[in-house]
Parts: sequence; C-alpha cells; structure tokens
Amino acid sequence: MSLLDSIRRPSYTGDRRCWPCTVVNVALLVVVAAAVTVVSFPLAVGVAAVGVALVYLRGYVVPGTPEFAPRLVSRLGLSPLFEHVPDGGEVRQSDELSEETSGEDVLFALFETGVLEEDAEGALFLSDAFWSAWAAEMASLREGDDDELAAAVAEAAPFEAAAAAEYDGIAVTGETQSIWLSRAHAVADAAAVRAMAEFDVPEPVRAPATTPLRMFLERCPLCGGDTEETERKLGCCGSGTVGAFDTPESEVLACADCGEVLYVFEDEAEDGTA
Ligand SMILES: [Zn+2]
Repeated sequence: MSLLDSIRRPSYTGDRRCWPCTVVNVALLVVVAAAVTVVSFPLAVGVAAVGVALVYLRGYVVPGTPEFAPRLVSRLGLSPLFEHVPDGGEVRQSDELSEETSGEDVLFALFETGVLEEDAEGALFLSDAFWSAWAAEMASLREGDDDELAAAVAEAAPFEAAAAAEYDGIAVTGETQSIWLSRAHAVADAAAVRAMAEFDVPEPVRAPATTPLRMFLERCPLCGGDTEETERKLGCCGSGTVGAFDTPESEVLACADCGEVLYVFEDEAEDGTA
C-alpha cells in the first residue's frame, strides 16, 4: 500500500465524488490561500497546492463537509445546479427560475392557461386535459432515440443550446451555461415544455414551470409505471442516486416500478431551524 493509497479515500472520490462538497472546499481553499498571501505568497501557494491535492485524493479537506456543504448549497439556492450523474460524477446546472419569473407568476400563468386547477379545499392538481397532452408527449419522446430526445431538450432550453446524450442523460450546452438532465428529467421536462406550448403558456414561464410540474407526474417518464410518494435516502445533494453519505430519508415522488426519483419535496421545517 503506497502513501498515496493510504491518503486516498475512494468512497468520496472517483464515481462517488460529491461535486457540491468539492466546489465548496475549493472555494474555501481559495479564501484561505488568499488570506495567507498577506503573510507569505509562497506559503499561500503551498497551502493551495496541498489543499487541492487533498480534495482530489480525499474528496474534501474541511471536516464535516458532507454535512454542511449540501445545506450551504441549498441555502444559497444553488441545489438545482448540482445533481449526481449515476455513474460519472458530473455537475449539473439546471434551468432554474429566471430572476424576473417568480414562483407566483409561474403558478398564476399555469392557472390562467388551464394547466393547473384548484379543488374546493384549495389543493392544486393537474387538469386532465394537460395531463393527457403531457403524457402523450412523454410517450413519444420515450419511444424516440437519444438524438431525438437531445433535440427536444435543446429546443425546450430557455437559451440557445446544443444538446447530446451523455452519462445516460442529456447534456445541454449554451453560451453561458450548461445543463445535465437525467433521462427521466429530460423526457418529463422537454415533454412538459411542448405540452405547455400547446396550452399557450407564456414562453418565459415554460422552463421555470418544468420542475414544479414534475411533482404532479402520475406516471414515470422512463417506463410509464405508476408513481408514488415515498421516503428515500438520497445522494448528499438531493439527487436520485444513493450517495456515499448516510443522509436522512427525504420525501420524494418516485416510480413504483423502476424506482427513478422524479421530484424531491423540500423539507421546509428542517431548513428553517437548522
Ligand atoms: Zn419508472
């Protein structure tokens, strides 16, 4: 066993590397190294070099990172940017809400256009007409090949983008941002954007609406199986993959057949007190 092997921590590196933990650690290293330059520039370079090497070999250097990094990332509103690729370790940047489109605006537009309806108790549900349109679009994307799915996702992206199948999902590259969507999210979101176009949902609302709409999925975008609300241990930043960390169970919407996690319900109470 070499010295390097004794330092290496395989459960936090390679395929199992947690990108939010890595990014937070590198950001902290930059701050520390910058502070050390006041004392000595060569020392700062040394600190940075050793730190980066340790993050590379061990996944993180700051003790407790798996506990606080995901929370920090979520507190900063960045959690949609990170999602684990099932077998690749890759950052996902999501098509999150644009600044000028608030959650309320999205809901209002979805009501106005008949995508969402409200029952007597004020609970929201998907209109039958929209669900039919969405399900039909999902079925057609599911039957197509990777290139068709990639093209549909590129078209649905709220920016000029090129898309290709990568890491068992779809990578979308634009001028200023890139997105990686799992296959399930790619099918659900691209189909939702198409169905929203049929319902004349205003264009700026379509991409931001895709994530909240996923909580209403009645069937799995991947296999067509029934969905169920269930408890699941997630990867440390809310992905559908069970990560290397012993995280608490989260409330999720998942496929009863293939197990794919389709939506993670935020634990507001825990977030508010932590
Ligand atoms: Zn499924």
